[in-house]
This record gives sequence, structure tokens and C-alpha cells, in this order.
Amino acid sequence: MAYLGNPARTVAVLEKHGFQFQKKYGQNFLIDTHILEKIIDAAEITKDDMVLEIGPGIGTMTQYLCEAAREVVAVEIDDNLIPVLEDTLSEYDNVTVLNQDILKVDIGRIAEEKNHGKPIKVVANLPYYITTPIIMGLFESHVPLESITVMVQKEVADRMQVGPGTKDYGALSLAVQYFSNPEVVCVVPPTCFIPQPKVASSVIRLTCHKNPVVEVSDEAFMFKVIRASFNQRRKTLVNGLNNAPTIPVSKENIIKTIEELGYSPTIRGETLSLQEFATLSEALRQKVN
Ligand code: SAM
Repeated sequence: MAYLGNPARTVAVLEKHGFQFQKKYGQNFLIDTHILEKIIDAAEITKDDMVLEIGPGIGTMTQYLCEAAREVVAVEIDDNLIPVLEDTLSEYDNVTVLNQDILKVDIGRIAEEKNHGKPIKVVANLPYYITTPIIMGLFESHVPLESITVMVQKEVADRMQVGPGTKDYGALSLAVQYFSNPEVVCVVPPTCFIPQPKVASSVIRLTCHKNPVVEVSDEAFMFKVIRASFNQRRKTLVNGLNNAPTIPVSKENIIKTIEELGYSPTIRGETLSLQEFATLSEALRQKVN
């Protein structure tokens, strides 16, 4: 039975192992059973699923995942948590704990070995200091993924969901929406964690697209165009692209491309949709020096 997730039991485990929190690893452990149940429900985990958990901590959510999934692989960077996890997960035989940095793990190989290369589900209460590299790493490495259900800072979840013309719209919104359909599951106050983070959090589910929503011949180039367009928010799209060393197109050709697409030369990147960025990127690629 999943017994962690309540504050008293979490504190008892921490005291038993003399665990000291490491701020550098973004350790805020969940202590609310309702939120844990919401995460498991939102991820729609079944006994057919292989789940990758990033940062199991003392194993609170891992216990819930082991009960719901066929197999769980949990990747934890902090050596001091490994003996704690051996203790709290001792009754489960469907979990593998890897003492590694998730940014250095070959997740494609895990999916191959543990799920015969079929799409996996990722579930995590993410360490906030590396939320974007983790999510972008998962997407850009083209690991077979069904969905990613994660706790992130509320502000980051908001950025993932918004469209053109809003202040939070940016490279993260476009990347997330290119690869998936984002839906916020719930907002989580700091009181649901120990220690309490300084900010509110949200659980967000990213359901990965089976087929691309926009077609581009060079995905990496489109992302270079997107990053360049948002790098200098207060600049026009022409200047953003022209100032980016990653876009080897002359200023004259950038202006020509933008005008051929029917935009004003003073347009800003934040007004363009994903489809419009895809079209712009295809047109710019033809003009690479
Ligand atoms: N899942 C636990 C929970 O909900 O109570 C802990 C979540 S805590 C926000 C983030 C966890 O990620 C911590 O256990 C931390 O040590 C771990 N972590 C931080 N950086 C990591 C990395 N690069 N690779 C793997 N785990 C990491």
C-alpha cells in the first residue's frame, strides 16, 4: 500500500534516515494525498504502462506509480536518497531506481529495454531549476512518448499554454505546442510540499501529438528561427533574426522573405502562430547563404 504522502509519515522517513534537504537539487517533497491521486488520474496510468519518474525524492509518488503501472523507472540524482528509496520501495518488484542525472540518461534506451520501444509516460514533480531543459530534452530527443504529466511552477505551466499576442507567449509555448497538447490539471499551493517552495505550482499534462500539427522540412532550423525571434523581445522580427548568428540569412533577404509572406517589416515575433513560424522557417531556409 502507498503509505507516504502524508506529512507525518514523510517526516518520520526523513528522520529515520537523517536526511538533509539539498537546495541545489530543487527538493520540495509532496505531502498531499489528494494531489498525488490527481496526478495519477491525470496521467491515466494503467497496468499496461511503463512510467518514467524524474526525481522520486523519498519515493512518495513512486509508491502510487508502482501500484498503478506495470513498470516504473525512477531517476534520482541525489546519492543520499538511494538508501531511503530502497527502504520505502522495498515492497515493490516493478520499480528500478537509477542514481543518475536525468539530463545525462539515454531515455530512448530505457524505452527500448523496458517497453520494447513503445511510447512511455513520464510523470514527475520536477526539480524547478531544470524544468525547461528536461521537457525540451524529452521532446527534442524524439524518445517515444505518450504523455508527460508534471508538476512545474505555475508561471511555467501558464507559459506552456498561451497563444500569440500574450506577454507569456514565447519559445517554450511554441515548442510545447509543436510536440503536444498542454492542459493544466490543477494549481497546487506551497503548503502541499515540504519544505514549501516560494511560488505556486501547477500540474500540467502534455499529451504528445501522434502526427505533427505543422509540417516543416527542418525542425531544428524552425526552433532556431523561433529562439532568434524571441531572444530580443523588444526588437522587430527582422532585427531579432538578423542579430542571430544561428540564422545565416542576409538582412536584405530576411526583409524580402517577411514582405513576401505579407507581413509588415516592423512586425514582432510574438504575434506569429506556430503555423506562421513554420511557414517563415521554410521560406528563410530557401535563402540561407
Ligand atoms: N517526487 C518527489 C516528491 O514529489 O515528493 C520529489 C520531487 S522534488 C521537487 C525533485 C526531485 O528531483 C528531488 O528528489 C531531487 O533530488 C531530484 N533531482 C534534482 N535534479 C535532478 C536531476 N538532474 N536528475 C534526477 N533527479 C533530480
